[in-house]
Amino acid sequence: MHCSNLYLTEQQGRLAERLVGHFGGEPGGKIFFANSGAEANEGLFKLARRVGMAKADGGGASGTGVSETGRFEIITATNSFHGRTLAAIAATGQDKIKAGFGPLMPGFAHVPFNDLEAVERAITSSTAAVLVEGVQGEGGITPATPEFLRGLRALCDRHGILLLMDGVQCGHFRTGRFQSYETILGPGSDDFRPDACSMAKSLGAGFPIGAFWCAPEYADALSAGSHGTTYGGNPLACAVANAVLDVVERDALDTHVQDVGAKLFAGLEGIRARHPDKVKDVRGLGFMVGLVLHDDAAGVDAATGDAIAPAGKLVPDLHALGMLTVPAGTNVVRLLPALNTPWDEMEEALRILEQGVEAL
Ligand SMILES: *Cc1c(COP(=O)(O)O)cnc(C)c1O
Repeated sequence: MHCSNLYLTEQQGRLAERLVGHFGGEPGGKIFFANSGAEANEGLFKLARRVGMAKADGGGASGTGVSETGRFEIITATNSFHGRTLAAIAATGQDKIKAGFGPLMPGFAHVPFNDLEAVERAITSSTAAVLVEGVQGEGGITPATPEFLRGLRALCDRHGILLLMDGVQCGHFRTGRFQSYETILGPGSDDFRPDACSMAKSLGAGFPIGAFWCAPEYADALSAGSHGTTYGGNPLACAVANAVLDVVERDALDTHVQDVGAKLFAGLEGIRARHPDKVKDVRGLGFMVGLVLHDDAAGVDAATGDAIAPAGKLVPDLHALGMLTVPAGTNVVRLLPALNTPWDEMEEALRILEQGVEAL
C-alpha cells in the first residue's frame, strides 16, 4: 500500500488528473494528497501564508497596503468547523472545540457566516485569505447563499486575497454536484472558482484520504521541501478514491443525490408540517440535510429546570429505533446518507425519523 513519495504512482496521477478535471478550467491546477480533512486544511493554511508572505515585498512603503510582515491572517466563519489539529481548531469558529487547548495559534479571525459586510470589515493589511465551508456541517447544516459566495469572490479579488473553501464534508458529490458551490450557484456556475479547496470524507467513501486542490496561479507556492507527506496519496488510498469515482460515474450518483435528495427534503418538510411544535426548520442540500428542532422540543429537565438539548435526545432515540444519525450543535439532527442510498431506504428513514419526532 505504500510507495515513497519520491516516485509517481499510476493511481495517484490518475486520481489527481480526474479531480483537477472536475475543478475545471485550463490549465486546471494541482492536487496535494493528505490522509484526512484536517491535514488537507493545514495545506490550505500553509498555502495562504506562503502566498501572503510573498506579498510582503515592498510592504506599506510602496503603497500597496500590505503590511511589512506580509499577509498571514485567515478570516473564517462563526460556527465553522475545520478539524482538530491546533491550527484547525484555531480556524474553527466554535468555542467548545477550542476550550482547554490554549494558547491558540494566532492568525485567524471569525465573522458571522453569510455576512459579506462583516467579512469586508474584518479585512486588514494582514489578511491573506477567507476560508468558508460551502455548507456548514458541524455548525448545523447551513448552506452559504449564492450572493455570499459571489460577493466573497469579488471581495477577495478586489483585495488580492485568497478564497479558500473547506469541502471536506460538503464536497465530492455530497450535495449532488462535485463541489457544493456548484450546487449553490446552480447552472452557470462555471465562472466561479475558489483559489483552493480541501476535500476528504466522501472522497474515500470511508477510507482515509484527504486532498486539496489549488488553482494554477498558486500551484507553485508550495513545493517539494516546503510541504510534504509520507502516506498522503498512497497507492491504496488513491485506488479506493478512483474506485469511488468510477462508481459515482457509472451509477450517475450526482443526479441520484439531486433527485433522491429533493424527495428526502420534501419528506422532511412533511414531518415539519405535521409536527410544527417540534420541528422548526429543514436545511441542507442533496444528501447533507438537517432537521432543526425547537429548543424546547424535548422538554425540560425536571431536576435542573433547563431545556433538554433536543438533538442530544433524538439521536439516541433514533439509534434505539434502528437508525444512525448525528447531531450538529444542540438542536439539529444531521442526515448524511451514503451517496448510493436508494429511495426506499430513505422512505424507511423518514418513517423512523417521524416516529422519533412524535415520541420526543
Ligand atoms: C470532518 C471535517 C473536517 C476534519 O476532517 P478529519 O478527516 O476529521 O480531519 C474538516 N472540515 C470539515 C468541514 C469537516 O466536516
